Parts: sequence; C-alpha cells; structure tokens
Amino acid sequence: MSQIDFVADSEIEPVTAYGLTAETLHEKCIALARNLWWSWNHEVINLFRDLDPIRWRQLDHNPIALLSEFTPERLETRAAEMVLYSRINQAYRRLKEYMNEIPAWGRTNTGVLGSRPVAYFSLEFGVHESVPIYSGGLGVLSGDHIKSASALGVPLIACGLFYDQGYFKQHLDQQGYQHEEYLDTKVENLPMEPALDSEGKPITVQIDTRTGRLLAKVWLMRVGRVKLYLLDCDVPSNSPEDRELTARLYGGDNRVRIRQELVAGVGGIRALKALGITPGVYHLNEGHSAFATLEAIRQRMKEDGVSFEVGLREVAHRTVFTTHTPVPAGHDRFDRNLIEEHLGPLRDELGISFEQLMGLGRVEPQNEHETFCMTVLGLKLSRRANAVSNLHGHVSRRMWAHLWPWRAEEEIPIGHITNGVHIPTWLAYQMMQLYDRNFEPGWMAQLSNPEIWQGIHDIDSGELWETHYALKNLMLAFVRRRLSRQCRRRGESDDVVEAARNVFDPNILTIGFARRFATYKRADLFLSNIDRMADLVNDPQRPVQFVFSGKAHPADEPGKQLIKKISNLRFDPRFAKRVVYIEDYDVNVCRHLIQGVDVWLNNPRRPLEASGTSGQKAVLNGALNLSILDGWWAEAFDGTNGFAIGKNTQHVDDRITDARDAVDLYRVLIDEVIPLFYDHDIDGLPRHWIKRMMNSISTLGWRFSADRMVADYVQKCYLPASGGLSCQMP
Ligand SMILES: *Cc1c(COP(=O)(O)O)cnc(C)c1O
Repeated sequence: MSQIDFVADSEIEPVTAYGLTAETLHEKCIALARNLWWSWNHEVINLFRDLDPIRWRQLDHNPIALLSEFTPERLETRAAEMVLYSRINQAYRRLKEYMNEIPAWGRTNTGVLGSRPVAYFSLEFGVHESVPIYSGGLGVLSGDHIKSASALGVPLIACGLFYDQGYFKQHLDQQGYQHEEYLDTKVENLPMEPALDSEGKPITVQIDTRTGRLLAKVWLMRVGRVKLYLLDCDVPSNSPEDRELTARLYGGDNRVRIRQELVAGVGGIRALKALGITPGVYHLNEGHSAFATLEAIRQRMKEDGVSFEVGLREVAHRTVFTTHTPVPAGHDRFDRNLIEEHLGPLRDELGISFEQLMGLGRVEPQNEHETFCMTVLGLKLSRRANAVSNLHGHVSRRMWAHLWPWRAEEEIPIGHITNGVHIPTWLAYQMMQLYDRNFEPGWMAQLSNPEIWQGIHDIDSGELWETHYALKNLMLAFVRRRLSRQCRRRGESDDVVEAARNVFDPNILTIGFARRFATYKRADLFLSNIDRMADLVNDPQRPVQFVFSGKAHPADEPGKQLIKKISNLRFDPRFAKRVVYIEDYDVNVCRHLIQGVDVWLNNPRRPLEASGTSGQKAVLNGALNLSILDGWWAEAFDGTNGFAIGKNTQHVDDRITDARDAVDLYRVLIDEVIPLFYDHDIDGLPRHWIKRMMNSISTLGWRFSADRMVADYVQKCYLPASGGLSCQMP
C-alpha cells in the first residue's frame, strides 16, 4: 500500500462495526435493517411493515428511517402488541445463518475465486427503492447480479459511486410536462458505514489530475453476503465544486461525467487496494468504469516492475466486459483535452505517450480525429466481452467489427450472456407462497433448474387465477393511491381526486407499459390509430385499460413530449378512465405493476432494446408478455408462452418499421390477446389464458433468472479469466 494511494480522513466519524451480536429486540431489528438481505425476504419486509404500516409507506420502505422513530421501549411495546417477538428473533437467526453459510453451489463451482474475488464495477446499483443510487435498467441489473452472486456464494465484491441526491424524482405539471426534483438522501438513514482499512481507519482515496487533486471517501453497504463499496466525493478536503461531483447520477456535462468515471474506475481500484482486496477478475458492467483497467495496470507495474505491455496483457486476461448499448451514440466519448486533464498523471506513471493512451480508446489508434470511447477501452482491455442477449450479441459484433477488420463477423470476440432477474426480489409474496405449496421443497435454491418449474402445470388453474386476481387488486389499489395523490398535489378538484380513487376495474384486461421514455421505445405506438384504440378500450363486452409509467432523461425533450402525450389522455373523455400514468417510476412502481398486470407491453424499435428485464419480472408473477421480438424476447418467445408483435425483421426506414409494427400490434391485440383473455369457461375461468401463463412461467422463469445469469458468468467468464488462460486481444 503506498501513501499516495489513499489517506485516512480523520473527519469521518467511525461508527460501531457491524456484527451479528445483537442482544436486544431493538438491536436485532437494526441489524436486520443494516443488511439489504431484508429487501428480498418477505417475512422481514412484513415485519417492518407491521411495526407501523403508514410510516413504512411514507418513509419509502426504509427500515432504518422507520426504526429511528422507535426507542427500544417503544419497540418492545409495539412488539408485544403485535406479537412480533418470535418473528424478530427468527428473522435475526435466519440472517445470521445466511451470513455464516457458504452455499453449496459456490463451494463447488467457484474454485480459485475464493482467495481472489471478482470485483464487479458499475456506476449504478438498483437494490431497493430506499437506496436511490440507480436510474433504471442498468442499475437494477447490477443490483440483481450482486443479489444472485450472494445467493450462489460467488466470491464477489462490488464497487460503484454513492450519489447523495441520486437520480431525479419526477413530477408532471398540469400540462403533463415532466419536472425533475433532486432530494438529498439522509446518509444516516442508509445501510452504509465508512469502509475501514486494515488499521481500522476510514478510507479516502485520492486521484491527481492535471488541474488538482480529487478525493473520495468509501462507504460499505451490505447486500446479503456481497459487500458493495461506494465512493463519495463529498469530503471536506475537496473544492466545493468537487464535493458535488458525485451528488447526482447522470447529472452533469461531459467533464463531470469523466470525473465521475475517473473516481469510479481509478478510485475504485485504489479503494480495493486500501481494503487489502486483490481481485482475481475485474468485471466492468458497461464501459463507464473502464478506467479501472489503467489503474490496475499501474499497480501491476509498480508491484512487480513489469512493463506497461506486460501489465496490460495481464490485466486484460483478468477483465470481463459487458456492453449494454446497441446505439453508437449511447457510448461515452471524451475529447483529448478531457483525457489529458484527467488521465495525464496516471499516464506519466504508466510511461506511455498521450497518443498511445488515446489509441486505447480509439478504433483506429492513429486517427487524431477520433475521440476517446470508453466502450473501445473496455473492448480492448478485456479478455472477453459480452452483449446482454443473443440478438444484441449479433448487433454488437456487427457494430464493433471494424475493431477487428481481419476477422469474420462471427469471430469477433463478443459473446452474449442474456440478462436475468433476481427472483426473490421480483416474485410477489402471494405467488411465492403458491409456488411453495406446489414446487419441490428447496426450489428456491435451484432457481435455474427447469424441472422445478414444471411444477406450475400441477397447480390448479383456479388457484393460479385467484392468486393473480388478488395481486391485480393490490396493484389497482396502488395505482389509485398514487393517482389520487398526483391529483391532490396538482391542486385538482375533489371530484377529480375522487375519480382517481375509483379508477379502473379489476375485471378488465389490464396492460402495463413502464420503462424509460426514450423515443425508440415508442410508448405511443398503441395510439397510432387513436380512434380505433378509443373503440378498443371502450368495447362494451371486452374493454381494455392501460397503465403507463416512466421517466425521460432530463435532456430528452422528445421523450418528455411523449410523456405529455400519454399522460394528457386523461383529458380525452374516451381515455380518461382507461389510460393512467403513474409518476416517478422506480423499483417500487415497477414491482407493483409487474406483479399485477395481465399483460406487459414492450414495443421498442428493433434491435435497439439490448435485453430488457422488466418483462422477465412480469413472467414470474403470471403476466403475459406482448412484445416486439427484440432483446430477450427474441430468444424467449416460443409461440405458446406470450405474444409476439411483428416478425424477426426491421426495415431500413424507421417510418416503415413503425407503421408495420403498429399494424401488427393492433392485429395481435384484436385477434389474439383480447379474445383469449375474455374467453371464459363455465366456471368463469379463462382456461386458455391460464394455460399460457403456465407455459410462460415454466419455460421462462428458470432461463431468465439472475442465478442462471451469474452462473453463466462464473463458468464462461470468471473462471477462465481467473485462470489466466490465453487472452483474446484485439
Ligand atoms: C427492471 C427495471 C428496469 C428495466 O426494465 P426494462 O425492461 O429494461 O425497461 C428499469 N427500471 C426499473 C425501475 C426497473 O425495476
């Protein structure tokens, strides 16, 4: 450890070290709240809720904030009232057992990773709504990845940034226009503590740039067995401007961006060093953290005196890179001045010229007009790169073929591992209980085993339908609550608020659409023939209702116009009762919607959806996907487990693609989805629909679980990377 790498910052108050030695009821509750393990364990969630259901909701399901309102005495009283003693004791015992056990899968399959863990880098982590350091799909994927790594017992530590204002809160004004609000998160209400070095001192990393020194403190957050380290520039020794550097996710210009990425990548590697962790594998989740490789090379050179070339080769051997963006414009690029300002001092230590450094981020290293692309750096400095679905693999190989001009497209070293979701997080409690009663005992420990999931076909149709119907009603209650709150906040009349409280009918086919409002996702495709849609939603026998949610990037004006277009349908009497828009899409909104809708709609312009994961969450709870054959759905749909819009094609002209897809969306709705949903037998059950729900769950649940995804990463990427086998260099 060199003195230059980090300094102890005496201004950070050390907190009591976390340990599972709680004695009193209050201490046990706090211990439970301080490991995000609670967030995917329904018994613990229900326990916190029962302490004070109203405050629980008001506090965004944050148990630390909730417990701060309880003195030990008040907690005892409440526990006595609600008969919580044994539940608290049992939950605490389960956490303790969980933390002390290494799962069988990890013991037998992760071999050499034990002594040198995987270091997983991501600029966002979506673990729970009470920890707002994510914006959307990428972050939720990272959260699900580390939760499954914890479940499988994969030796993995994670590294990212702490944003004290996170991503924005979304409100729509009277006209349906999006406004962004940034709120300070109270650090004391988060399950974080300062990360400590071997001497028990809080760690601060420092990074020199050509224009000054950046410092970042390091937090530790526990996500089950996985430790998540988060770097935070809000330290007194930084300039006031730099203290704000990590305040917001995607909040600044390109200079803020490169500085954030410098802290995450270079700072992240330094933090691990200070912690005494020597990773055996670096996994870069998206190019944002790719500067990590340069710092890893520097450390290799410094430790063993190897040359830059040898260091680069060694680090690339150990690096796994996942790319997520099928759009060329979606990749971070920095101009030469930004690169020299921020990487200059590191480059001096690496002993390479400025042009050499730039070359690492360029497709054509000598081309002075090319900017520095983080994805190119990631591709060049990794042994293996992955796309996130089969189709995205094809697209990525084509997109980056010019990096390997002498290779045939199928030999481009970009493979794919399709994304999956963490089942305990996304599976509704009621549905989990149903699985519990009908699947083999111990099914939760074998989520990627297809045979387990065949059990769904043995469940009584009526029971599955009733469970779905109960969840649908919970979702409707959530929608009504949110909608009436939105109306009240906008100062609308009592009549409007009252109407919002009664909106929707549980017997009507309900279609959900929630995701980022980027224009390629075409949220308004269903409106391409608005009169026809008005007839469909108001059909007297077979009506349809839609629930929408999603944020537009603050700078995405066309995306904001899309939100306006859809949310303003409330002023059109034909749609007022049939189409609603829920503000401030986040993990909480997502969970409610995917657990309760009948159909999950996704209609991006193919092939721009790299994977998509929300539809996988919907599957688990019995919703049927209605989707363009893009991302994961292109490999998931088999004709019996959901609905497909369009074929495996796209026209070169977007307008033609859009027109075709719109026609097909209406066709599938009218000919397949609506008739199947309303086709009830004499018991009042939609038998054919229920059969399709079962097909969906049995064919997709195991394949698109994050446990399967992480196991794939271990076998195809982590083990080869840690073994130092031959490396595929561009
Ligand atoms: C799952 C999830 C996503 C990703 O879903 P997509 O299908 O990729 O749109 C985005 N945001 C939140 C809050 C999620 O929970």
